[in-house]
Amino acid sequence: MSEAPHLTFDLETPGVSRGHLVVPGGADSGELSLPIFSLNKGEGPRLLVTGGNHGNELEGPLVARRLIEWLPEAQTCGRVIVLPVLNPLAVQAWSRNTPLDGLNLNRVFPGRGDGSVTERIADAVSRVLLPMADTIFDLHSFGPAWDFPPAATTHPIADRDLMARTVRMAEAFKLPVTLVWEYNDTVGMFDILAQNQGKVFVCTEFGGGTVGADNLAIFEAGVRNALIALGLVEGKAEYPTFLEKKSGQILETRPSDELKSPATGIFEPRCSVLDEVKQGALIGILHPMDSLSAKPIGIRAPGTSIVLAIRSGRHVHVNEEVAIVARPQKI
Ligand SMILES: [Zn+2]
Repeated sequence: MSEAPHLTFDLETPGVSRGHLVVPGGADSGELSLPIFSLNKGEGPRLLVTGGNHGNELEGPLVARRLIEWLPEAQTCGRVIVLPVLNPLAVQAWSRNTPLDGLNLNRVFPGRGDGSVTERIADAVSRVLLPMADTIFDLHSFGPAWDFPPAATTHPIADRDLMARTVRMAEAFKLPVTLVWEYNDTVGMFDILAQNQGKVFVCTEFGGGTVGADNLAIFEAGVRNALIALGLVEGKAEYPTFLEKKSGQILETRPSDELKSPATGIFEPRCSVLDEVKQGALIGILHPMDSLSAKPIGIRAPGTSIVLAIRSGRHVHVNEEVAIVARPQKI
């Protein structure tokens, strides 16, 4: 029988603590020690910040590290726990899922103590860290195959009061997009577990493409804004500049807003994120490459909408998503 997941330090210790979240070993791997930071300044909000849930989304771990450097001089009250890399096996492999068991960490919560390595990580986070926080920021990116604006997101939540508090928290990042994202594949997600416990959970989607200095500065500013709104640090929150604007908008998107490729071939984007498009506007072109007689196919906007996500130019299979559109949220 392996030992239970635990921290190598006491979270009640005042001031800065650095140590590890220990995930016990199992049949498929030995024990994991995930580096973790805590700053305890007594009474106040209790925040958990996590990154590296998906291994090919590296902006979150980088912003989490910046947060660890900044907090000791900035935090005035409450407790902040930062775990920059939830899934080191996936991050080391630059893979969305864990190579060892093929599982997506963000689909196995609350995890299993006697499960495979991904399930054991989820179990450790659920049992050791989640009870210590009232608010959780899980720092994701949309991934390297997409263009996507910096966004603070939530799924729709049945509890109207928790939904309102969660959207307010997401807006407090002051990122260009606050997104209410209706999504079908939510079983086992970290946010669903936390929200079922009445906690405010914001999932950021820190862009796509490549990790760049300008975008990282926007993401870091967003997290700092959220900490100001929580009252953990003092300061004035401001919209970072994105596409030459300092503003934000609340958008909503549903599964029917995903545009799929009509054929296999190379997708050529013909618009940019946050473009406003009318019904029938050209979103992109699919170029079949298996026959020179096959004509390029235009992919058009199904209705008046805003381009939320667009595939970077790349080869796609038939029925693979190439764009996602959204609309301003109806209050
Ligand atoms: Zn992710």
